Amino acid sequence: MGRVLVMLTAAAAVVACSMATVMVRRRMKGRRKWRRVVGILKDLEEACETPLGRLRQMVDAIAVEMQAGLVSEGGSKLKMLLTFVDDLPNGSERGTYYALHLGGSYFRIIKVHLGGQRSSLEVQDVERHSIPTSLMNSTSEVLFDFLASSLQRFIEKEGNDFNLSQPVKRELAFTFSFPVKQTSISSGVLIKWTKGFAISEMAGEDIAECLQGALNKRGLDIRVAALVNDTVGALSFGHFHDPDTIAAVVFGTGSNACYLERTDAIIKCQNPRTTSGSMVVNMEWGNFWSSRLPRTSYDLELDAESMNSNDMGFEKMIGGMYLGDIVRRVILRMSQESDIFGPISSILSTPFVLRTNSVSAMHEDDTSELQEVARILKDLGVSEVPLKVRKLVVKICDVVARRAARLAAAGIAGILKKVGRDGSGGGRRSDKQIMRRTVVAVEGGLYLNYRMFREYMDEALRDILGEDVAQHVVVKAMEDGSTIGSALLLASSQSVQTIPSV
Ligand code: ADP
Ligand code: MG
Repeated sequence: MGRVLVMLTAAAAVVACSMATVMVRRRMKGRRKWRRVVGILKDLEEACETPLGRLRQMVDAIAVEMQAGLVSEGGSKLKMLLTFVDDLPNGSERGTYYALHLGGSYFRIIKVHLGGQRSSLEVQDVERHSIPTSLMNSTSEVLFDFLASSLQRFIEKEGNDFNLSQPVKRELAFTFSFPVKQTSISSGVLIKWTKGFAISEMAGEDIAECLQGALNKRGLDIRVAALVNDTVGALSFGHFHDPDTIAAVVFGTGSNACYLERTDAIIKCQNPRTTSGSMVVNMEWGNFWSSRLPRTSYDLELDAESMNSNDMGFEKMIGGMYLGDIVRRVILRMSQESDIFGPISSILSTPFVLRTNSVSAMHEDDTSELQEVARILKDLGVSEVPLKVRKLVVKICDVVARRAARLAAAGIAGILKKVGRDGSGGGRRSDKQIMRRTVVAVEGGLYLNYRMFREYMDEALRDILGEDVAQHVVVKAMEDGSTIGSALLLASSQSVQTIPSV
C-alpha cells in the first residue's frame, strides 16, 4: 500500500513537472512572439522617422523640384501644370453658377449665387454622393453619362425656382481631381488616372468636351465653361474670402497642391498671356519623389501591387486612400509572424479593406478598453485580442499617420520656400526681416476629419518654419471649398453676367 502511494505521488510529481515545463515553454514562446511583434513595430517606427533635419531636406528637395518642373516640360516628377488662371475671385463676382466635382471618393454638385459682395455668397444647393466603385473601372461613356444624369436630376429638382423670364444657358464649372494638361481655362486633356480609377482609352481626351458631349446627349442646356483642378478651386475659394491666400492643398482620397507663381518664373511657358503677372500652377505633388522619403517595406509592397506602381509615390504616403492600407499591411505582417491576432484572417489579407476612416477611429479611441479598436479589428476578422494588442494597433496608426502629416507639412513648407515666404530670405524676397501674412487654404476629408493628422501636421509646420515665421502663416481649413471655389472662379472669368440673379 505504502509503495503504491509512493509511486502515485512520484507519478503525480512527474506530470505536474512536465505540465509546468509545457506552461513555461508556452509562456517563453509567447514572450518570444511578443518580442517579435515589438521588433516589427520598432522597425516600422525607425523606417518612418521624420526628424526635423530630414523634414528640412524634404522642404529643400520640394522647392528644387518645383523649380525644375517650371523650367522644362518633364524636368521634374512635379509636373507643375499651367492652369491659365491669373485672376482669382475677390468677392465682387455676380451671378448664378453651378459646379460639378469629381473627386477620388465623392462627387458633388452645387449651385451658388453671387451678389457682388463677399457676404452675399449663397450656396443654394449641395449634393454629395459616393462614387460607385464600378464606375472607376467602367468606360468613359458610362462615367460621363452618370455625371450628366446626376446633374440632370439636380437641375430638375430646381423646378420652378429657376423660372427665368428669358431662356438662359446655365454655366457650369467642372472640378476635376485628376492630372490634366490644361489648354485653356475651359479645356484640358487627361494625363493619367490616379486614386484607383482605371478607365481605359481616356488619357489624351478633353475632359470638358467629354462632359459637354454627355450633357448634350441628354438635351441639357448647360455649358461646361471652366475645367478646374480641385486644388485651384480651393485656392479660388480661399482667395475669395482672404486675398492673402497664395496656395491651396487638398488632403482627401489623394493629395495635391497649387500656388500662385510669377509668370516670369514659369520658364517653360514662353507666352503665358496673363495680365496680372502671375499664374496659378497645379503642382500635382502626389507624384513628388525623393530618395530621402522615409519609405518602408510596406510602402514598397503597396506600390508594387497598385495599379500605378512607380507613380504617385508621395500621394501613396500621405493620401487618405492609402494610409489604411499601410496600417493593414503592418497588422497582417504581425499576424503572419506571431499568433497575437489569432489565426490569420482572410479579411485582413484583402487590399484596402481597412479604410483610413477606421484608422482615425482607432487612433482617436478614448475608451479605457479601446472598444472601437476591438470593434474594427472584429470587422477585419480578428476577435478577442487583449488590451495590450489593441494598444499596439493604436501605436501603428499613430506611426503611419504621424509620418504622413509631417511629410505633408514639409510639402507646404516647400511651397512657402519656393515663393520666399518661409523666412529664409530665398525665393522672391531679399529682405529677411519683412514677413507678409500668408494664407494656405487646406481642404479634404483627411485633414478635416482626422484630428490627430491635423494636429501633427500643424505642429510639424510650426517646427519647420520656427515660431517667428509660423506666426505669419495661416493654415485655413475649408469644407467644400474646391467645389464652391470652382464656381467662383468661373464667375470671375466671365466678363458678362450670364444668368440674372434669382
Ligand atoms: P474626395 O477625395 O473625393 O474629394 P474628400 O476630400 O472628402 O473626398 O476625402 C475623402 C477621403 O478622406 C476618404 O477617402 C478618406 O481617405 C479620408 N477621410 C474621410 N473621413 C475621414 C476620417 N474620419 N478619418 C480619416 N480619414 C478620413
Ligand atoms: Mg477632393
